[in-house]
Amino acid sequence: MRCRAWRPQRLDWQAQDAHLGHRPGRCRVCWGRCRNKTPKTRPVCLDCQQLLAGHPDVAVRRWLAAVPGLDPSTVARLMADGDPQTAQAAARLCDLDWE
Ligand SMILES: [Zn+2]
Ligand SMILES: [Zn+2]
Repeated sequence: MRCRAWRPQRLDWQAQDAHLGHRPGRCRVCWGRCRNKTPKTRPVCLDCQQLLAGHPDVAVRRWLAAVPGLDPSTVARLMADGDPQTAQAAARLCDLDWE
């Protein structure tokens, strides 16, 4: 199947940038469709996981933390996120893996 994620077109937005905070799919300058193939158990491909985990918009990282089938390296990165809600969501994913 195809990756379900919107892929950030760039990550170097500045805090005062008018594009910061644009939601996936709403702005074609910020976001493009990912065409990577990915296994069924992983709706978001590894490339997108890495891009989204490093995205400056906290809402994007929170969204990613709720995606099933994340790679362990992505979960680890999100668990170290400065945003508590993102870190907690990732920690819950980690717990599920161990059960
Ligand atoms: Zn935009
Ligand atoms: Zn992708």
